[in-house]
Amino acid sequence: MPPRSERTVLVTGASGFIAAHVVRELLARGYRVRGSVRGNVSEPRFDALRALPDAKERLTLHTADLMDEAAWPRLVAGCDAVLHTASPFVLDTPDPKRDLIDPAVAGTRNVLGAAIAAEVPRVVLTSSLAAVTDEPVTGHVYTEADWNERSTVTRNPYYASKAAAERAAWALVPEDRGTRLVSINPGNVIGPAIGAALNTTNATIRDLLSGAYPMIVNLEWPFVDVRDVALAHVAALELDEANGRYLCVAETMSMAATARLLRDEGLAAGHSMPRLRLRGRVGDVLALAYARIRPPGLRSYLRTHIGRSFRVDGSRVTRELGVGYRPVRETLRDTVADLERWGHLRRRV
Ligand code: NAP
Repeated sequence: MPPRSERTVLVTGASGFIAAHVVRELLARGYRVRGSVRGNVSEPRFDALRALPDAKERLTLHTADLMDEAAWPRLVAGCDAVLHTASPFVLDTPDPKRDLIDPAVAGTRNVLGAAIAAEVPRVVLTSSLAAVTDEPVTGHVYTEADWNERSTVTRNPYYASKAAAERAAWALVPEDRGTRLVSINPGNVIGPAIGAALNTTNATIRDLLSGAYPMIVNLEWPFVDVRDVALAHVAALELDEANGRYLCVAETMSMAATARLLRDEGLAAGHSMPRLRLRGRVGDVLALAYARIRPPGLRSYLRTHIGRSFRVDGSRVTRELGVGYRPVRETLRDTVADLERWGHLRRRV
């Protein structure tokens, strides 16, 4: 195995919330990194990537869209590993098939197809807990053996895109091929961002604190820190024995417990976090009624998640990849500080 300084890794969607942390970690370890982005590489929104330590010497940015099959062979050529993180991440869009499912699946086929053809030894796919379940069963502890088999283009389409993309990946890369596939399946990823863009999951913390949700409902959030997700990706790339799926979740926490923690830590001060809490069966019925007036993607998510209390076993990441999880308390503290730093959340004086 050549030294890291001679190893090249392609990170797709390099400017994304998770990917930017992966890029930072790879550069810190001495790798050469190729980052694919959408749009012109000289756009100011990529400045944060260019400003990472050692980026000048070892990071190059390249334009490529997931739907453009022809773009990927030249990007994977000569790479020692490919980290495929790019995938559209929104709950609501006018055309879920066009905007979510097609790019997720075609993108996975295009990137992985090129990697297999170029005999890249290791591909790490950023999948999701969305590929594991879209309607958690109360009391169940989710593991790598669980698969989301229920999402469709009209029911949780983001979840459908992740489940279909991960299935496509495993179908492309059977166990006995030269390319080894490892998937990382994170839950709700929060934490400090490397650029100014507001990620969909950090937005849930902003929305909770800013009062965008009128009340606390009976929802569970399987949190994990973005920095730990990045470390899991890099370990999945570096460790020979890494294989299969790795659920990546530190702790599942209810919305009520999250609100309590934010209050206890003094993080809610100066914000408009709701105090009204809908409890019990009646609370769930009211929350489901509220879901009916939300946009379809959010409505679908609320309908399939309200009132469900579940757990996720993310221990394989620690046991086999050697990545410990930061406590959610610390992650929330850093997330709120970061939301305020980038101006996504304003504290009243
Ligand atoms: P993000 O910041 O929105 O990153 C998504 C990246 O994918 C962006 O760089 C985006 O580029 C790129 N992308 C989207 N559509 C594309 C297309 N057609 N062609 C090329 N690039 C495209 O979200 P993230 O949270 O970092 O998500 C990264 C990955 O983690 C995704 O696969 C997501 O499903 C997965 N994931 C996220 C979470 C979470 O809680 N955040 C949890 C589990 C899994 P633009 O910036 O140009 O849009």
